[in-house]
Amino acid sequence: MDYDRFSTVEKETAPPNLKELKNVAVSYHYTSSIPLAVWLRTSSRILKHAEVYLSQGVTDQAYILYTRFIDLFAYHLYKHPDLTDLKRQKDSDLYKHYLSMKAQLPKLMSDVEKLNDVLKKRHDDYIKSVKAKGKLIQREREERLKEEATEFKRSMLLNEGNKDIQDKNAPASDLNDALLAKKLRSLSRIRLNNGQNRSRIQKTTYPILSLPHNNIDHSVPQLNDNIRQTSKENKMTPKQITHRAVNFTEKGIPLRTLFVPSNLVDEFLKIASRNTKRKLETCGLLCGKLNRNAFFVTTLVIPEQESTQNTCNTKNEEKLFEVIDNLDLFMLGWIHTHPTQSCFLSSVDLHSQNSYQIMLNEAIAIVCSPDKKFHKHIGVFRLTDPPGVDVISHCTKTGFHPHNEKNLYKECQRLGINNSKTGHVVMMENLSFETKDLRK
Ligand SMILES: [Zn+2]
Ligand SMILES: [Zn+2]
Repeated sequence: MDYDRFSTVEKETAPPNLKELKNVAVSYHYTSSIPLAVWLRTSSRILKHAEVYLSQGVTDQAYILYTRFIDLFAYHLYKHPDLTDLKRQKDSDLYKHYLSMKAQLPKLMSDVEKLNDVLKKRHDDYIKSVKAKGKLIQREREERLKEEATEFKRSMLLNEGNKDIQDKNAPASDLNDALLAKKLRSLSRIRLNNGQNRSRIQKTTYPILSLPHNNIDHSVPQLNDNIRQTSKENKMTPKQITHRAVNFTEKGIPLRTLFVPSNLVDEFLKIASRNTKRKLETCGLLCGKLNRNAFFVTTLVIPEQESTQNTCNTKNEEKLFEVIDNLDLFMLGWIHTHPTQSCFLSSVDLHSQNSYQIMLNEAIAIVCSPDKKFHKHIGVFRLTDPPGVDVISHCTKTGFHPHNEKNLYKECQRLGINNSKTGHVVMMENLSFETKDLRK
């Protein structure tokens, strides 16, 4: 698949500094009301995603997720209330799982230290190069100003010389106007040039946190194989084009564009049709890859599931995660039908969506209401951040329940002529995908 032909590409971006990355890493919503088992599952997804990022050379995202994993275990999970009971059942699988994940901390911490050095050096190098560039721009500008001044002086002299002749032919005020116009022209040219320089500098130093910086050459100290390999790849493709994030969360965190094959929804509705006829929900997982800083849904996974009219729960999740892990895919979101309801996110849906968004800001929920009586048939949603992610993370209720706050979620599909309706999700024709139906 050639992903390069898609829009929203940018050639150069500034690397964020470590402080910015650390801030992003620890700005997740921890709450002990989410069971330890769920946190452990989320943690292993975080690790898996970090590995995928690292293997694709997206070092800052890998750094963010490893740091988040460490933070979770070092500051939160050890005092999770579920552990009190678990410590009495030391043979339980859950407790063993907890210990085995915790045991990875020392190794991860030393890996993060190494990444730390790589990223710090990258940032320092970048600042140095910007400063050097800035000096160059400054020198160019000074030279240009000198030229402008010389030209202005010459034109003054020229006009002085012509004054006598012109005085005879034109009123004095006209001559002053002509001089003034020339002066203004030359000044405005200087201002224009300055303006361009300024905007260029601003653009390159803007900290777009979730962008990879594959295009910047990093010299890397001795590291483990994985990290070294990554940097080698970067060096081999120094001028790689990346997709630019053009959307942001309400908090201002960039959302990378997520491409969904436009015929995926139809395919899903076909698969769901048997359930839909019986007024039962169907759900599927949207899995895919990261390519040049944009996500692509490449695989629709239909998990084993249990459905009712207004719920759908996945079963045998171990198998589900094994399939996804073996394919090295990101979980980019989920899709489900509302056979008897309109197109919206129910309170239960909001909680499900939150568990995806904790792992990935860009994760989405697609809801399909196939019944003709509904005006709207397909919606692509994400939780707002804020207030959505925060409110749902702190809500301890289960089952269907009201939330008092408004604007907890919003549509996020880019639509309309010239993409007038903004959002980070693009339905794209001619994108291939495969379907894995685990119910068979
Ligand atoms: Zn729903
Ligand atoms: Zn709730």
